[in-house]
Amino acid sequence: MDSLDTDYLVIGAGAAGMAFADEILTNSDARIIMVDRRDKPGGHWNDAYPFVRLHQPSAFYGVNSRSLGDLTRDVSGPNKGLCSLASGTEVLAYFEQVMQQRLLASGRVRFFPMCDVTADDTFVSRLTGQRHHVNVRRRVVDSAYWTFDIPSTRKPKYQVAAGVKCIPPNLLPGVASQSDNFVVVGPGKTGIDTCLWLLSHGIDPARICWVMPRDAWFINRANIQPGDDFFLNFIEGLSRQFEAIGAAADVADLFARLEAVGELLRLDPKVSPSIYRCATVTGAELAELRRIGNVVRKGYLKSVERDRLVLDQGEVELKPDSLIIDCSASGISRRPQVPVWTGGRINIQMIRTCQPTFSAAFIGFIETAFADDTQKNALCLPVPNPILAIDWLRMLVVSGKNRMSWRGHANIEEWLVRSRLNVLFAAMARVKPDETEKLLAMKRFQDASMAGMAKIPGLLSA
Ligand SMILES: Cc1cc2nc3c(=O)[nH]c(=O)nc-3n(C[C@H](O)[C@H](O)[C@H](O)COP(=O)(O)OP(=O)(O)OC[C@H]3O[C@@H](n4cnc5c(N)ncnc54)[C@H](O)[C@@H]3O)c2cc1C
Repeated sequence: MDSLDTDYLVIGAGAAGMAFADEILTNSDARIIMVDRRDKPGGHWNDAYPFVRLHQPSAFYGVNSRSLGDLTRDVSGPNKGLCSLASGTEVLAYFEQVMQQRLLASGRVRFFPMCDVTADDTFVSRLTGQRHHVNVRRRVVDSAYWTFDIPSTRKPKYQVAAGVKCIPPNLLPGVASQSDNFVVVGPGKTGIDTCLWLLSHGIDPARICWVMPRDAWFINRANIQPGDDFFLNFIEGLSRQFEAIGAAADVADLFARLEAVGELLRLDPKVSPSIYRCATVTGAELAELRRIGNVVRKGYLKSVERDRLVLDQGEVELKPDSLIIDCSASGISRRPQVPVWTGGRINIQMIRTCQPTFSAAFIGFIETAFADDTQKNALCLPVPNPILAIDWLRMLVVSGKNRMSWRGHANIEEWLVRSRLNVLFAAMARVKPDETEKLLAMKRFQDASMAGMAKIPGLLSA
């Protein structure tokens, strides 16, 4: 076993590990060893289906020091008029460049692909079995603490009878022409993308069956657009959210209000969503998805027999020559929140709602800017994982507490304004004294957020 020295040992070279490492390089002279069991940087994007895209704008995704795309707007398709969404291939190329041209080029980072970190101070090659011992001077950084399953890297949890065709979405473009009917299993972002892919290629919606154990609330992508042109739209959307909280009689009333003002969307106005996973859609995408009439809401799929689907709450006929497309991996970690700084470890988690790369970069900055772990943890409370609908509110309350705790720290405020991952603050800082409409919108947001934050504990306890 050889022995290596470093300041930080980063487990995982996905988006979170890279966003963290990038900030450490920017703000310190530290050395980093990054280890990933995959062959390339980019984490789960390496195993994504070929038609995957970001579901939030590229402009605020990735690492802080290098942009991914710009404010170019799509001119066609269901994202028309909104800022572009990088494809999976573009995301992977971006992370490859970040690794080569930023992290490795610094001379302070070493990357060990195809290796498993087996204990805090050891990693082992998956190919040769060679073991490396690491003397970590500062921290072991678990960027995979929040890691999750995607369909192509695990088997479905339901049984599939012999002779039934069941694939992950990765294989769909290659085999779609060989089936008469399609069963999409899973209500999340992957299921949505798969349905949209089929529809966009002219598949008659009557040939699609969508298995939806639980309906989700979706973020309206039109309201989270970066850039000065969308500034009013963005900040007024946030104000509407807090005003809905302020006016809500209870949680059910809150979601009704959020939908009424266009902040949250759902597939079927007659069905109450019970989950929230940060999935983000446009109105046009929703309109497409609503063309699918055969949505099966009978709980979780237990098995697929040759002629039927067996679900928790009943059975449904399986049309002849059906292709099952498994999109049922949860895509969200179920691990409990733990303090980010724990002993010698940093456990990367989200500290702002639905913003994983912002969160990892921010944690990297805080690691370099403050000395005391108690203070660092107080600035970076982990938000709950988005699972149930109520988590929309639970995440917001922790995000809000974090934001409040950052006030008064000039170095944090300065970082927030210059961070490309923190799209709204930079736009706020650019507002000029004569831009009355924008200033009024900022004041409205400030008032609404103060009142809304004060109301949340009451809503949650009820
Ligand atoms: C389809 C899809 C679309 C998404 N779109 C967006 C979006 O638009 N905007 C957004 O902000 N987020 C989006 N997300 C969320 C996305 O999950 C994050 O942006 C981010 O890519 C997650 O990166 P990660 O580094 O946390 O995890 P991962 O990508 O899972 O990376 C963790 C890495 O750690 C490695 N690893 C784990 N354990 C070990 C070990 N013991 N030893 C060695 N290596 C290890 C794994 O091999 C993996 O490569 C999307 C997610 C999905 C699934």
